Amino acid sequence: MILTVTMNPSIDTAYPLAGPLKVDDVNRVEPIKTAGGKGLNVSRVLGQLGDDVLVTGLLGGRMGDFIADRLDEAGVAHDFARIAGESRVCIAVLHEGNQTEFLEAGPEVGADELAGFEAKFRELAARADVVTMSGSLPRGVDAGYYAMLTGIAAGAGAKVLLDTSGASLEAALGAKRKPYLVKPNLSELGALLGRELPAGDLGEVRAAVEGDERFRGVEWVVVSMGAAGSVAFSGGRAWRARAPRIECMNATGSGDSTVAGFAHGIAAGAEPAEVLRLGNACGTLNAMDPATGHLPMKRWDDIYGAVEVTEL
Ligand code: ADP
Repeated sequence: MILTVTMNPSIDTAYPLAGPLKVDDVNRVEPIKTAGGKGLNVSRVLGQLGDDVLVTGLLGGRMGDFIADRLDEAGVAHDFARIAGESRVCIAVLHEGNQTEFLEAGPEVGADELAGFEAKFRELAARADVVTMSGSLPRGVDAGYYAMLTGIAAGAGAKVLLDTSGASLEAALGAKRKPYLVKPNLSELGALLGRELPAGDLGEVRAAVEGDERFRGVEWVVVSMGAAGSVAFSGGRAWRARAPRIECMNATGSGDSTVAGFAHGIAAGAEPAEVLRLGNACGTLNAMDPATGHLPMKRWDDIYGAVEVTEL
């Protein structure tokens, strides 16, 4: 089973406008509402790939009920810890090719609620082969929380795929038990290293990853580079995956879809090059579909076949 963790899910609401955004005036809209959050995107894609997936995290109030209902409708199994605060709503106004976003911070989480989640996580992680953890943490949760969950899951024998950034990523890389895979994009890696990495200079990326003590003990470091694909490091070897040229419809959720592809491959015991091909195929397919965290499966064979993986 693949367990996915979403600590701060949201009702993602898109307001597509027919014309320009009218400021200080009325804009009439037909909303499109989805159960959102990076971990939920990972889960939906895993569902499309046919994996046995279970979703966990924190859910609160009526907004939380809405998210649970949407997951039920999509046939995605879930077991969340309930909290007193309301899960958040995030709004994206789509106007004239622009995307103006309003993101709620989400509920404040109490210490007893976190302890309740930890107990549930311990139980679920013991049944999982792979655990994915994605996105930022809600208010009131320490930056070391993912590092702590990683310790629990890895201690129970699960492979942890961690897709986060900033202080959370740093804490996980500084812990005794490290994640099995981390997937920073180029700018997240730059933030971790405290300097900008030039796009396209793979030698520099390789030197940065292989020379940094913090990555020791992490089985897989994958640096994703949007339309340019990704570069991956494992066991002293390095691979480059090139994504095929596509018409990009909506790349939001491509990183999450990539994580889903990795989780799928790793759970199946695939070879490194195959794991990379799966991840990149999922990321690229997601970018071809207007929906976030959704692959146009009719295009699977041609995109999967067109991802080029070479060892560096
Ligand atoms: P994140 O969303 O985490 O920033 P990226 O933007 O790097 O992640 O995208 C993750 C993966 O999705 C890439 O490595 C690539 O395989 C695929 N991808 C993203 N955007 C495109 C695109 N425009 N064309 C083809 N593939 C893409």
